[in-house]
Amino acid sequence: MPDDVVSLFSDTGTRPTAAMRAAMAAADVGDEQEGQDPTVNRLQERVASLLGKEAALWFPSGTMCNLVAVKAHTQPGDVVVAEARAHVVRAESGGAALASGVLVEPIRTERGIFTAEELAAAFARINTVPAPWGAPAGLVCVEQTHNLGGGSVWPLDALDAVAAGAARHGVPVHMDGARLLNASAASGVPAAAFAARADSVWLDFTKGLGAPIGAVMAGSREFLARARRYKQLFGGGMRQAGIAAAGCLHALDHHVERLAADHELARRLARGLAQIDGIRLGTPVPETNIVFFDAGGLGLDTAAMAARLAGSGVRVSAVGGWLRAVTHLDVSEAGIDRVLSAVRDIARSC
Ligand SMILES: *Cc1c(COP(=O)(O)O)cnc(C)c1O
Repeated sequence: MPDDVVSLFSDTGTRPTAAMRAAMAAADVGDEQEGQDPTVNRLQERVASLLGKEAALWFPSGTMCNLVAVKAHTQPGDVVVAEARAHVVRAESGGAALASGVLVEPIRTERGIFTAEELAAAFARINTVPAPWGAPAGLVCVEQTHNLGGGSVWPLDALDAVAAGAARHGVPVHMDGARLLNASAASGVPAAAFAARADSVWLDFTKGLGAPIGAVMAGSREFLARARRYKQLFGGGMRQAGIAAAGCLHALDHHVERLAADHELARRLARGLAQIDGIRLGTPVPETNIVFFDAGGLGLDTAAMAARLAGSGVRVSAVGGWLRAVTHLDVSEAGIDRVLSAVRDIARSC
């Protein structure tokens, strides 16, 4: 990618910094599959303590965390209750169905956050009362922050209410915490407080944290023993993964505090976009690092606007009928201002 392109395509586009690469090059390593990689083990302990859980397990990707969590929590024929646009439903190639044989009961929301009443209604729809035709609810999934909901943060009391509702039915809660640390940075609520409401929870190191590889899932030792078996089964057992884990440890040391700066850049972008006629924002004030907007008022659909922006050296994605711009550590204030001037130029030419 040429350096003069401002890429707001995704916070996965970050490249490891020189300091991160140096930490990776210097990592102590061993065989991860055998639990003998010292750097992976250090990272697992660090994440378990950050999230206030008994233990944690290294994974090559967040998608595999979700795949394994669904498998380890459910039986074939169970129903997984999740928000309709959750990553586990929409963006994992049908993995939950293929690997776990589960049905999904979607809850449709504006911003990705559902209420205890909506959860209770979902349980009622799938008929969790003992009856020959009812399928049992096996798992409730929440996404913190909710990506397609606009990077929205689950407030602690909303999570509490949903966790209590799930517990009343004896159903575990899994938290897709790909951007959990963004939620903490935005709300001031410690990650462990959010994580306490979930039986399993994982962090992605390849989003705003800026590492090239790695996700870590935390939970009880008993849950993780089952998870470890499925991780191996799905091909997620690795060898000298400490090289990658060292990048994740570096991210925890150096890239957590700066997440607030990504959020400030997202607000700067939204403030600027709000002043351009013909541009509509998904939410007036982004909560974290994701901004949804469209250019329907300029007569441009999302594909046309994304193409026009690409022609001006700005990359965004088109998802769910919106343009999505994501800030991250490779984006500067000057970059955001360049994006805004590109949008202004396009608006003037329409
Ligand atoms: C990126 C993402 C995932 C998947 O993580 P990968 O590490 O890319 O496999 C899962 N859930 C959410 C909400 C994500 O944004």
